[in-house]
Amino acid sequence: MVNTVDYIIAGGGISGLLLANEMANSSWFDNKQILIIDQFVKSTNDRTICYWSKDQLAPDYVSKSWKHFNFYNYEGEHKLLDTDPYEYCMIRSADFYNHVHYKIDQKSNITLITDKIIDLVEMDDGMVLKTEESNSYKCKHLFKSFITDELDFTKDHHVLQHFKGIFIETEESCFDPNHIHFMDFRTDQSPGTCFFYVLPTSDRHALVELAVFSDEVWEDINYDKTIEAYISAHLTQSKYSIQETEFGVIPMTTYNFSAHDTKRITNIGTSGGTVKPSSGYSYTRSLRHCKAICQALISGKEPQIAQRIFSKKYKWFDQVFLNVILSNKLSGAEVFDQLFAGTKAERILSFLNEDLSLLEDIAILKSPKKVPFIRAALEEIF
Ligand SMILES: Cc1cc2nc3c(=O)[nH]c(=O)nc-3n(C[C@H](O)[C@H](O)[C@H](O)COP(=O)(O)OP(=O)(O)OC[C@H]3O[C@@H](n4cnc5c(N)ncnc54)[C@H](O)[C@@H]3O)c2cc1C
Repeated sequence: MVNTVDYIIAGGGISGLLLANEMANSSWFDNKQILIIDQFVKSTNDRTICYWSKDQLAPDYVSKSWKHFNFYNYEGEHKLLDTDPYEYCMIRSADFYNHVHYKIDQKSNITLITDKIIDLVEMDDGMVLKTEESNSYKCKHLFKSFITDELDFTKDHHVLQHFKGIFIETEESCFDPNHIHFMDFRTDQSPGTCFFYVLPTSDRHALVELAVFSDEVWEDINYDKTIEAYISAHLTQSKYSIQETEFGVIPMTTYNFSAHDTKRITNIGTSGGTVKPSSGYSYTRSLRHCKAICQALISGKEPQIAQRIFSKKYKWFDQVFLNVILSNKLSGAEVFDQLFAGTKAERILSFLNEDLSLLEDIAILKSPKKVPFIRAALEEIF
């Protein structure tokens, strides 16, 4: 028997649950049947999601936020920056999953099931999905948050951002819980752009995360050695224990993911191109995308038009940024150093968050080393 619903959200990870949350928030969806299918029960803390926010009121699932950050360039020069009006917000994914699961439990029209989708068939009047447990589901429209097609990145800028983070507990007090390290380049830059985040949640607890831009993921031991060396050189000599670890690989690319949308499928999350090509951040873009999808549906429009919120201007800036780094006009460390050298923190954060006007954006690019950016900009035009 085929179970028929209005919408299926394939994948109940971050973007799938952001969309479900937005749908649960609007009474317009109350008479729509919505099914979320994920292959796993998502309840553990499998990732820490951070984002910059100007909102006065953070959602309940934000576990900590900060208003000051340290930037260190590769030569060890340091700046302590005030993030006002932004805050850097941290979400432990387990809190987010639990928050949305609880909310959709209260909605009789939204159902979450655990099963693996193994086949998708597009018909004239809808989509049919088959699952590993031999169930079939049909919907008018599918929101898909995992990649099913072969992707060919050869015509686009593309590099992997891979990262490993460890939550540590130190024996001695050694962190200032009010200050994060947001980009610390004091580590070997020869394997590619490498930098650290340090997010202290108390004077003895912090997430220390190493992020690398390169074509190949490293062997696990190399992340561990690099993190260990960084902690002892720059954070503390105190003994520490590792309480949790996390690992991720994100595509930083100008690839047009929305080309895989069809009449019946809207891709969301990473597979919907919400990872910002120049930074790897996706939470804010994913949230904006999900809000725009709901707005389109409520206005009787096709949900695919929500892609229009990703402005061409920022696509072009991302192209220029990746061009500069991937063609070695400047290293990633030099690019961020230039950005932080010439501009107020508020401007940089607005730029990274895609909140600026065109004139303000252009002002950002007036960094001391203009030539590599101008060359890259010209290459991206012609
Ligand atoms: C460790 C880590 C840290 C990150 N930190 C940040 C950060 O600080 N800030 C930020 O903005 N971004 C961050 N990201 C990037 C990005 O926000 C996350 O990857 C985010 O989870 C992407 O959301 P998504 O919905 O696209 O994918 P996911 O959250 O991975 O969701 C996809 C879901 O699809 C399910 N699925 C896959 N195949 C099937 C199938 N066949 N059938 C059924 N279900 C299926 C999966 O189980 C999964 O739950 C991080 C990523 C990782 C991995």
